[in-house]
Amino acid sequence: NNFLQMRPSWLAIDLAAIQHNAKAIMQHAGAQRLIAVVKADAYGHGAVPVTEALYEIGVRDFAVATIAEGITLRTQVMHDDFNIVLLGVQDVQHVRVMAAHRLTPAVGTLAWLDEAAAQLDAGEQLVVQLAVDTGMGRMGAHSEAELQAMYDKILKTDTLAFSGVFTHFATADDRNQAYYAQQVARFNAWVTAVGIPKSDWHLANSGSALWHHDQIETGTIRVGSVLYGYNPGAPELPLPLALKNVLSLKSHIGAVHQLQPGESVSYGATYTATTPQWVATLPIGYADGYLRRMGGMSVLVAGHEEQVIGRVTMDQIVITLDRPYPIGTVVTLIGQDGDCEITVEDFAQYANTIPHEILTTFGPRLPRIYQ
Ligand code: PLP
Repeated sequence: NNFLQMRPSWLAIDLAAIQHNAKAIMQHAGAQRLIAVVKADAYGHGAVPVTEALYEIGVRDFAVATIAEGITLRTQVMHDDFNIVLLGVQDVQHVRVMAAHRLTPAVGTLAWLDEAAAQLDAGEQLVVQLAVDTGMGRMGAHSEAELQAMYDKILKTDTLAFSGVFTHFATADDRNQAYYAQQVARFNAWVTAVGIPKSDWHLANSGSALWHHDQIETGTIRVGSVLYGYNPGAPELPLPLALKNVLSLKSHIGAVHQLQPGESVSYGATYTATTPQWVATLPIGYADGYLRRMGGMSVLVAGHEEQVIGRVTMDQIVITLDRPYPIGTVVTLIGQDGDCEITVEDFAQYANTIPHEILTTFGPRLPRIYQ
């Protein structure tokens, strides 16, 4: 939608940096296979372009959360020979849609498999992955016996096929590794007892691949955050390898004016100038994911820091300026300008949340510009 670009606020996304980060994390973790987590529109970066960029470097396994996300990849990516795992719990009534689009749901109960088998006709086939709940508490087998029953059901049912078994870590980006070690131990014990080969296991999310991969006994990792170049353990844990920055958030100066002492800005008139003060209005607001609580945050203009003043509104913000700048001057809200940088980790910390939430909150009004 080219009309989106008529409003000069955008996300600049470096696909080569994603390719670099994918190779870097595989090398760091000693992994042979990568399942790229591209759910939630590839954490806001655009699932189709990200999938195509990773396909180009040999990635053939992708994970999303929903059936709609899976169908988007299956129908819009220009290749066909890649796997799509659905990580979330799916409603079993849609089993034929999943089979038709070759989507591989994660399954956590025998009842789900029974129901799926009952719905599929001879000649149809659904490939599934088994989820093991070792401590995340969201979905999956809770014991070796449950896992065994599900595995047996797949092996003896012609319309079902098996392509993997996985668990998800709750504390991989935590300094304390006790809970993590307990999850690894449970998974290894149950999956080994059931006799599922290691080549079908996948456990590691970004935190695990970054900091604790020595404890994982399979060469497959299943990561999101690191592909997008940010540190899921920030600010406590430093990154053990260099990742490339992927995303910048930019806007243009749309209007410039000078506040006089006593004049205020935005709803609630919470900011009042005490001296003559140049300010600029930018066409971005909380409806774009520039959260309301970002009032007071830094932005970068001509290589130095300025500040968001007054309340963030739905579509516009106001920033300080050291002097008047021309309309159209680029302002960096996340990213680098000269020697100054605002990282997505800085942005998330200011918002009192994690980068995942910031990235997946950027709205559809912001065009994604790929480079
Ligand atoms: N695996 C599962 C099941 C997930 O839900 C997620 C993301 O939330 C990931 C892997 C990727 O996690 P990360 O972005 O920390 O690598």
